[in-house]
Amino acid sequence: MEIDDLYPPERLVAARRATAAAGLDALLLTPGADLRYLTGYHARAGERLTCLVLPAEGAPTLIVPALERPAAEASPAPATGVRIVDHSDGTDPYPLVAAALGRPVTAVGLADRMWAEQVLALRTALPGAQQRLAGEVLRDLRIRKSPAEVTALAEAGAAIDAVHRRMGEWLRPGRTETEVAADIAAAIREAGHVTVDFVIVAAGPNGASPHHDTSDRPIGAGEPVVVDIGGTMGSGYRSDCTRTYVTGGPAPAEFTDYYAVLWEAQRAAVAAVRPGTSAEAVDAAARDVITGAGFGPAFLHRTGHGIGLDGHEEPYVVAGNPRELEPGMAFSIEPGIYLAGRHGARIEDIVVCTTDGVQRLNTTPTELIAL
Ligand code: ZN
Ligand code: ZN
Ligand code: ZN
Repeated sequence: MEIDDLYPPERLVAARRATAAAGLDALLLTPGADLRYLTGYHARAGERLTCLVLPAEGAPTLIVPALERPAAEASPAPATGVRIVDHSDGTDPYPLVAAALGRPVTAVGLADRMWAEQVLALRTALPGAQQRLAGEVLRDLRIRKSPAEVTALAEAGAAIDAVHRRMGEWLRPGRTETEVAADIAAAIREAGHVTVDFVIVAAGPNGASPHHDTSDRPIGAGEPVVVDIGGTMGSGYRSDCTRTYVTGGPAPAEFTDYYAVLWEAQRAAVAAVRPGTSAEAVDAAARDVITGAGFGPAFLHRTGHGIGLDGHEEPYVVAGNPRELEPGMAFSIEPGIYLAGRHGARIEDIVVCTTDGVQRLNTTPTELIAL
C-alpha cells in the first residue's frame, strides 16, 4: 500500500471546507491523530511547539522545532501541500501561529488533546479568538475509513491475530501475568507493530476487572485468563483484540455457562452490523442476550469503540448513541461478563461496516480456548 493512498492531499481540502462550514477561521493541530490524519506527519508531543495551522482559506503551514524539520520534510506532509516553518530553541514560537494565519481570527478549532499550556499560549497569541474543538470538524471525516485505511486496519488485525495464535507458547499455570505479558509484548512487535499499546493478562479474579493490566500473581490451573492486546503499525493504524483462555485444566462450570452466553452476545452484535443500524442497536444486540440470561449487571461497559489512528475514537457503540452506521466505519465489538472476586470474560473483534453488512478484521476462533 502506498502512503499517498493512506494520507491523500484531498483530506486537507475536505477539512478546510468543513472548517469553514463550522464557522471556524482555522484549525490548529498539535501532534496526535488529527495531525497525522491530515498530513501523514507522525510527530512526538513535547514542550516544543509543533502545530499545523490550517486556515479555512489560505495556505496551510506546519510549524515545527528546527531540530524536527528534517523529520517533517521526510514525512508525507510536504506532498499534501503544507509549507514548513521552523523555530529555534529560545525563541517564542506562538507568534508564528498568528503570522501563519495572516489576519485576525474570531474562532479557531484546537486539537482535542492539545496540552493545556499550549491552549493558554494560543489564547495569548490570538487575543479574542474563541477556542473550540477541532473534533467538531474532524470527527465526521475520520469516522468513515477509506479503502486504504480499511486495508491498514486489516493488516493490524492480522498481525494481532498472529499473536493470539501463539498464546500456547506462553500461557501456562505457575507463570505470572507479567511474565506472560512480556512475551506477548515481544510477539506484538515481531508481528509487525511498531509500538505495543497495551497488554492485559487478567487471570482468575483479575479477569473481573475490565482494565486490569498485569500483576505478579501466578496463573492458576483451570483459571480463565482474559488477554486483551493491541499495538500500532507503521501505517499509524491500530489493533485491539481480546480472547479468553483457560490453561492447565477445565474452567469452572459456572464460568463455561456464562461464557456461552457471552459468545452468543458477541455474535449477535457482530451480526447486527450493517448500514443504517444505529450504534446503540448494536450495543443492545449484545446486551439483550446477556441481560436475558441474568448477567446484565455484570456487563460493566459499552459494547465497543471506533478505532483507527486512535485506539478509541468515534463511533462509540453505546446506549444513547443513535448514530447510524455507514460503510467504512470501523469499531470493536467487545461485550464482557465480570463476576467480582471470581473471574470474568471478554470477546473482542474489530469489525468494519460494509455496503451490505460487516467484515470482521479479527478471525481467530472466539470460543473459550483451552491451552
Ligand atoms: Zn478498554
Ligand atoms: Zn481491547
Ligand atoms: Zn477495545
